[in-house]
Amino acid sequence: MNQQPNDKQTICIVIPCYNEEEVLPWAMGKLQTMIGKMKAETGIKGRLLLVDDGSRDRTWELIEGFAAEHSNVAGVKLSHNEGHQNALWAGMQESLGMCDAIVSIDADLQDDEMAIIDMARQFAEGKDIVYGVRKQRKTDTWFKRFTAQAFYRLMQTADKEIIYNHADFRLMSERAVRALMEYPERNMFLRGMVRQLGFSEGYVYYDRTARTAGESKYPLSKMLAFSIDGITSFSTAPLKFITFAGLTMTLISMLIIIYGLYEHFIGKTIEGWTSLMVSMWFIGGVITTGVGITGTYIGKIYNEVKRRPRYFVDKKVGIKGGN
Ligand code: UDP
Ligand code: MG
Repeated sequence: MNQQPNDKQTICIVIPCYNEEEVLPWAMGKLQTMIGKMKAETGIKGRLLLVDDGSRDRTWELIEGFAAEHSNVAGVKLSHNEGHQNALWAGMQESLGMCDAIVSIDADLQDDEMAIIDMARQFAEGKDIVYGVRKQRKTDTWFKRFTAQAFYRLMQTADKEIIYNHADFRLMSERAVRALMEYPERNMFLRGMVRQLGFSEGYVYYDRTARTAGESKYPLSKMLAFSIDGITSFSTAPLKFITFAGLTMTLISMLIIIYGLYEHFIGKTIEGWTSLMVSMWFIGGVITTGVGITGTYIGKIYNEVKRRPRYFVDKKVGIKGGN
């Protein structure tokens, strides 16, 4: 693209959509309203790039309809369901050349789309990456809130780079996207990778709302289905299972330790039984957990060396670079 470095005119909003027919019309209305407001307040134009991640409902027909109706809407249909992170990646890659920055946001608009205007402002002021950070999680169920918070805490101890309560709602300048596209790994955790780019960063704080329609695409059943998948040679889930088995054994060993010591002190055992029982279970648990963790990393290596393509585009609508 032939642009001046400070030519900040167009933002492309990338929306991964997987079976989102229920929320899309509503979400499109809200996003178009926001785009109008953004243009009025900042002078920056907005485009919408909808990525259909192999939906099985009417999502693609809806996208085609929006693209026919609005000149600022484009759509990409992936040939297969590749998952949220890959769909986002596809959207970012396809958006190159169409805009000066991208904003990624989920189709359910649980993240406040009006925060995009603040992101645009910070972008105009020269920030390359602007993170959307949730102020609170009142509207999530306690289960989602608990698991999500445990997740962020765990990630933060493992990697200091993670921003607490930032999901994949963020703005990235075109050069930041191009830099990200140079990361070759297939095991993607975008919110962590973006942090490593090192360009100037800004933050926008907002309240997260509940999903208005449709259901979460990450229900418990999906996680269970995932482990069944793993039984095939295609996946590394069996390796994860070893970790799980090891952790369970370690837990059982704790119980056996208590039981063994109890039996020992009331004098019901023969010499050596307690120490044998306790160490057998404990060592077994620790070793199996270790094997599992190692196996999990090997599984990742297995996925990386295959170097499989991230996605294939099946169809496209809307003119690239047009209007
Ligand atoms: N999504 C996707 N591919 C998938 C699963 C989800 O593109 O395989 C999209 C989905 O359409 C939504 C976003 O990823 O725009 C986040 O999904 P969801 O809102 O269901 O997740 P949650 O907010 O419950 O974590
Ligand atoms: Mg959601």
